[in-house]
Amino acid sequence: MGFDTSGLLPLSDALQGMLEQLACCCDTEQLPLPEALGRILADDIASPLSVPPFDNSAMDGYAVRLADLAAGTPLIMAGKAFAGQPYQGEWPAGHCVRIMTGAPVPAGTDAVVMQEETRADGERITFLCQPVPGQNIRRAGSDMAKGACVLGAGTRLTPREMPLLASLGIAIVSVRRPLRVAIFSTGDELKPVGTPLAHGDIYDSNRYGVKAMLARLGCDCLDLGILPDNPDLLRAAFIRADQEADVLITTGGVSVGEADFTKQLLDELGEIGFWKLAIKPGKPFAFGRLPHAWFFGLPGNPVSAMVTFDQLVQPALAKLAGQRFERPLQLQAVAAEPLKKSPGRLDFQRGILCQGPNGLEVRSTGSQDSAVFSSLSRANCYIVLERERGRVAAGETVTVEPFGGLLL
Ligand code: AMP
Ligand code: MG
Repeated sequence: MGFDTSGLLPLSDALQGMLEQLACCCDTEQLPLPEALGRILADDIASPLSVPPFDNSAMDGYAVRLADLAAGTPLIMAGKAFAGQPYQGEWPAGHCVRIMTGAPVPAGTDAVVMQEETRADGERITFLCQPVPGQNIRRAGSDMAKGACVLGAGTRLTPREMPLLASLGIAIVSVRRPLRVAIFSTGDELKPVGTPLAHGDIYDSNRYGVKAMLARLGCDCLDLGILPDNPDLLRAAFIRADQEADVLITTGGVSVGEADFTKQLLDELGEIGFWKLAIKPGKPFAFGRLPHAWFFGLPGNPVSAMVTFDQLVQPALAKLAGQRFERPLQLQAVAAEPLKKSPGRLDFQRGILCQGPNGLEVRSTGSQDSAVFSSLSRANCYIVLERERGRVAAGETVTVEPFGGLLL
């Protein structure tokens, strides 16, 4: 409260400043389709064939010519067409063809009448309704036309793309190799899980969060563990990460405390900017380059580390990995209770979004202190409160950003 926030860097400027400097650094490799899940397409994919490849029936029923139906008398079944077994016989006037879903429609078919709209008496089929031309026929190329771009370079392959690529007969895909990201936590107080804590110690939680997010993004992670606030050990870790990874992400040590050696070392080893961001949580943040790797220094406070990773590092890693990044969906909701806020920073408060009787409602998860981790784990969205906004009264409309694939 009350401190001068005018010199803080807006999130959008920080993001733009980073993205302008970054370009994809991952080579291309060829993978069999099943192994490409989670990878990023290196090239546009043009459909090598039409899908569906031929006109076919959308229903189990009867293929008809409208001229034959006009007479109003029952039609005689000339034969049957199955998926994978087209009808190849004669089709004399006054006849129809029994057809199953997915079977190619015989040449000359105007429509398919679903069997529920017919009555069969042996081979004599009575039609209970008059079909319109094209009814129940899936036209060749109606899903994807031959030669059309069906997936753009930069698309991350999810379970939704796998059957699409298979439907095109594509067995090998050209994808980017995974981005290699080194991580470590800094702080004398940090202990790994599974070990006892001495007075003054806490468990290193950030590394588990960062690692989990990297796994979601499909990055290869080089985990360098916990480093004490010791310049020599930190220097060695920075050098190793620079040699072995595309990116180094650290947490802690980027503020101005007496044990914050990160700045000193990075001035020595690379070109790094230390930013005070106009967002809450997450004020201190470092970005820049080591001789061979990009560097992101996240704040030590666990919620700040997660939020700055999600909002700033995620789009940057996407660009380095060759992924097309889309900003997450933002919605409007009504604050179901007052929200504390002071003007000066863009707030990413942690909220619980739900469907109320009159539309979307959002509540706070409680204390928004950046060290309170439970505020994040109980949330399902950010409540994004504009920089100049003050306290929010119950009933006011606010912007919410449901957690995306990274945090869910
Ligand atoms: P620092 O940025 O190093 O000054 O850390 C800010 C706060 O975050 C301190 O309370 C640290 O103990 C805490 N912190 C730093 N790193 C971690 C970590 N890896 N896990 C949990 N808490 C951390
Ligand atoms: Mg520290």
